[in-house]
Amino acid sequence: MKKYRGVFIKNDREIAGIREANRIGANILDAIGDAVQPGIPTMRLEELVQDLCASYKVKPAFQGYCGFPFALCCSVNEQVVHGFPSTRLLKEGDIVSCDFGVVYDGFISDSARTFAVGQVSDETARLLQVTEESLYVGIKQAQVGADVHAIGAAVQAYVESHGFGVVRRYVGHGVGAKLHEKPEVPNFKPALHGIPLQAGMVIAIEPMVTVGSYEVNVLDDQWTAVTSDGKYAAHFEHSVAITPSGPRILSVSDRGLARTEFMC
Ligand code: MG
Ligand code: MG
Repeated sequence: MKKYRGVFIKNDREIAGIREANRIGANILDAIGDAVQPGIPTMRLEELVQDLCASYKVKPAFQGYCGFPFALCCSVNEQVVHGFPSTRLLKEGDIVSCDFGVVYDGFISDSARTFAVGQVSDETARLLQVTEESLYVGIKQAQVGADVHAIGAAVQAYVESHGFGVVRRYVGHGVGAKLHEKPEVPNFKPALHGIPLQAGMVIAIEPMVTVGSYEVNVLDDQWTAVTSDGKYAAHFEHSVAITPSGPRILSVSDRGLARTEFMC
């Protein structure tokens, strides 16, 4: 694979492979969303992912990555990312962030969505809406020649204009041949310039947005990130190819994008 300043430049065949991995990954996220309801343990979602990976004949990309023990990152309420599926029962008013990837023919997918469990509070509904919208605001910046840091600057401005916070500790990343490649894609505006985006780069853009403080702590399980103030957090992620005609979202399921008004 060619590189530009340390970042893989994928050819059309490789992007087609990453797209297929992401189509399957997004279809599985659709199924997770359909299954989310009050009263089920989050482990039920992990079992669903394992079953669907088997039927699609793909491998979960996260399981075993740096020792992560599950296929699905499943983070409830104040958990931001990297939560473990468990016997915990979802209840009305919860939110559950599901982050998930597959390996298909050597190519890796990565996308995430946060689902409401039954009826949620107005503030929580607004958190989900603003987080998802901020993802599309960021994607619009993913243009050939643009500074990769323009993405985070746009995400941060949008999120903060709505009174929410953007997590600094975790960032987006290049994706496709490996789960985490260069470049880093912050969701905030760093002090320094980043690299100019080039056609053929594939990046995962993934704002993590908090109701209160953007500071996070990691639990004793060494994985689960929670907000420092215990307030709710949401997470949406797409894998996006940089093309001469603009950003192309690869993690689109067969149902299409949920929020078409923000399509690039
Ligand atoms: Mg992810
Ligand atoms: Mg990611």
